[in-house]
Amino acid sequence: MSKRDYYETLGVARNASEEELKKAYRRMAMKYHPDRNPGDKESEETFKELKEAYEVLSDGRKRAAYDQFGHNAAQGGFGGGGPGGMNFTDIFGDIFGDIFGGGRAGPQRGADLRYNLEVSLEEAVFGSTVELTIPTHVACNECHGSGARKGASPATCKDCDGHGQVRMQQGFFTVQQTCPTCRGQGRLILDPCGECRGKGRRKQNKKLSVKIPAGVDTGDRIRLGGEGEAGENGAHPGDLYVQIAVKQHPIFERDGTHLHCEVPISFVAAAIGGELDVPTLNGRVKLKIPAETQSGKVFRLRGMGVPPVRGGSPGDLLCKVMVETPVNLTAKQKELLKEFEQTLSTNNINHSPRSNSWFDRVKKFFEDVKFSESKKR
Ligand SMILES: [Zn+2]
Ligand SMILES: [Zn+2]
Repeated sequence: MSKRDYYETLGVARNASEEELKKAYRRMAMKYHPDRNPGDKESEETFKELKEAYEVLSDGRKRAAYDQFGHNAAQGGFGGGGPGGMNFTDIFGDIFGDIFGGGRAGPQRGADLRYNLEVSLEEAVFGSTVELTIPTHVACNECHGSGARKGASPATCKDCDGHGQVRMQQGFFTVQQTCPTCRGQGRLILDPCGECRGKGRRKQNKKLSVKIPAGVDTGDRIRLGGEGEAGENGAHPGDLYVQIAVKQHPIFERDGTHLHCEVPISFVAAAIGGELDVPTLNGRVKLKIPAETQSGKVFRLRGMGVPPVRGGSPGDLLCKVMVETPVNLTAKQKELLKEFEQTLSTNNINHSPRSNSWFDRVKKFFEDVKFSESKKR
């Protein structure tokens, strides 16, 4: 974990825009990329710091947390690799695909795929295994991706001698160009595979089972390396990114590792106390409501929330009780309530803490208004 300020690491101002961040990151990362500094430990460290800083600052949520809490937020909430070889919010492939991937000669790496996966709150909290069907290209199993008919192997392209690039004379200049004969591949398939017509890959619905770790939240991303599209002519496949969105739940609202819910209670139970059935994701639990509970009071059930995806103790369930006004009262019940109301006004005990202090505040407010008006004159 880097100790340096992330903004300093990237050399940008604290109010840098997304575009500025991206630019700064690209510029610095190009300079310190391990491919360009083989064996240089210091560059490698700097590169790691850059990557970490950018991962945090390019994510609105993480950036806000970092601005507020600094590295502590980063250590608690997010960091490097996820469980089981999965990698959350791995933007690395995205941003470098076009810098370092593009210029290389030879067969193209397969495309990265993105799969938007909606999971229920229960699946997100407890984790689950989800079966995905992904329309994709896979390596042809007849030619194993080579594109050449069984027994035949691709021939070296004669126009470029297998380099994939040709030199062209244009006036005084020599221009290097992608070989038009083999389209940069360096090889030609003279006897193409009948199954894939020389492409080396074919379309297929791929079934994959993806482990969703407990605690994932909307915006998390699971990277499955090599599960993207097959490359052309045996090149490396791309990666599959599973983008998580957690569905709305009818009872619980999620806030990071905490869950919130509202539970209605009768005004009698609120007044004299009682026991309440509270829903949790693990089933019902009994909650003791003390006498004189006011509407809107929040009860905290420790550890009944969501476990953080990187491990640690789960959050809490915050249960807000809402006192309900009874409806459909019979004449008899209304009579009883009126009688009850009268008993409240016959003694000198304060039964309404909130409205009493509220009326006091209203009174004071009007006195202040009168006072300031009399001063104006
Ligand atoms: Zn084939
Ligand atoms: Zn060629």
